Amino acid sequence: MGIFSFGRKDPKDTPANEAPLSAVPAAVEAQEKPRGLLDRLKAGLAKTAQVLRTDVRDLFKREGRLVDEDFLEELRGVLVRTDMGPAAAEAIVVDVRERLRARVVDPDVVLDSIRTQLLGRLRNTEAGLGTAASGPTVILVTGVNGSGKTTSIAKLARMFTRDGKRVVLGAGDTFRAAAVEQLSMWADRLGAEIVRGPQGSDPASVAHKAVARAVEVGADVCIVDTAGRLQTQSNLMQELSKIRRVVAKLVPEAPHEVLLVIDATAGQNALSQAKGFKEAAGCTGIVLAKLDGSARGGVIVPVTEQFGLPVKFVGLGEGADDLEPFAPERFVAALLEGAFAPEG
Ligand code: GDP
Ligand code: MG
Repeated sequence: MGIFSFGRKDPKDTPANEAPLSAVPAAVEAQEKPRGLLDRLKAGLAKTAQVLRTDVRDLFKREGRLVDEDFLEELRGVLVRTDMGPAAAEAIVVDVRERLRARVVDPDVVLDSIRTQLLGRLRNTEAGLGTAASGPTVILVTGVNGSGKTTSIAKLARMFTRDGKRVVLGAGDTFRAAAVEQLSMWADRLGAEIVRGPQGSDPASVAHKAVARAVEVGADVCIVDTAGRLQTQSNLMQELSKIRRVVAKLVPEAPHEVLLVIDATAGQNALSQAKGFKEAAGCTGIVLAKLDGSARGGVIVPVTEQFGLPVKFVGLGEGADDLEPFAPERFVAALLEGAFAPEG
């Protein structure tokens, strides 16, 4: 009746033209994956790992090959193909040149060099989310359209509900009706409550209602979606700071996290777009979505370096379980484990 509907939404209420059911891939979500974290990460990073494994191994194929400038250039090419960025690739090349100059290629040294450089560059990241001292922990999720915000919210909600936490979602991307429907379907599926407003309504008022509802029902976490398509940076800035203001009035120190979702497959252009969101939103951490299925998982290195924010989670698929807290050691191990091992 009111502007905001609380509680689960009956999918039958959804107008056909607004309900992209395909936006929530049922098949992917249905298959439970009781695998360990390292195995899941390895599966998600398989394509990037393959570039490092097969392509680097190919460099060693010629028996007794010496480490000369040709070899080093080929190595650089392979590294750059993973999107780890020219600086990291150069550092590895310099290190390998120093350690192996004019000697026969030693795969272990190359592997060790890649591992050391990646770990060094990913080390300043910290996992874990800030939480509220009392009242619900409020998490805003921001980023470019299509980067994976809504899906990441579903994944976070799943993570919390798995832990027995009560979650309220705020459908703050009021710009697109489909976005609200998509989040509603996830809420339904995950057993989380959702607070929505009509299309085009003020996102800050949706955020306010969502956080107020979370306080009212004693929820542990309130996750608020935001629109990814805004005309100008000042527009974006205004909207996000308004959201911050209204939630801060309800819960001290809220928002406790502002997560910037970045699409790992989207290339340099998407990274510079995402920068606008970082600056406008006062982000506290990154969710690097869509690392799976991409051979460019090395992009986590320039993302970490360019944004100066910790990568808190990585997205490894379209399902609700395909989110992992980011841990540099595990990430690098997943990428390099078994690399250069004899074939077969
Ligand atoms: P939003 O516009 O930022 O809210 O982005 P969505 O959450 O709607 O995601 C856009 C598309 O990317 C959807 O088709 C999602 O299923 C897909 N997606 C999101 N995260 C991942 C991920 O980690 N891996 C893969 N493979 N697809 C993802
Ligand atoms: Mg969305």
